[in-house]
Amino acid sequence: MIRKIDMGLAKKVFEISGQNVYLCYQCGKCSAGCPVATEMDLLPNQIIHMVQIGNEKALEAKSIWICATCFTCSVRCPRGLDVAKVMEALRLIILRRGIYKLDLRKIKDIDKYPQIALVGASRKLTG
Ligand code: SF4
Repeated sequence: MIRKIDMGLAKKVFEISGQNVYLCYQCGKCSAGCPVATEMDLLPNQIIHMVQIGNEKALEAKSIWICATCFTCSVRCPRGLDVAKVMEALRLIILRRGIYKLDLRKIKDIDKYPQIALVGASRKLTG
């Protein structure tokens, strides 16, 4: 039996990032070079594969938020896929659903944190 692939998630990622996840052939070079892979629940190539097959559980992965956007994965990819841009697109899909990962109002002693850290966290974790 041939199963039809749901390309909806991959299409959304393409619209946001311009990246075609179907370029990926699962060599794993992105994951092998990722400096924060040990903290991830799913490796970058696994996330890409889930997006390829339309598995929305990719959006629940901790990895998307752990990604530091260092671009090591993007530089290593032999297929020219900008994996960091895909991760960013997945974060945006979640944030555009109104699911924010940070509520600045709930941070105690907010004035003790460096402003640049707050701005960075706010840009990455809120819509
Ligand atoms: Fe896919 Fe590129 Fe990662 Fe290889 S390096 S698994 S082709 S995204």
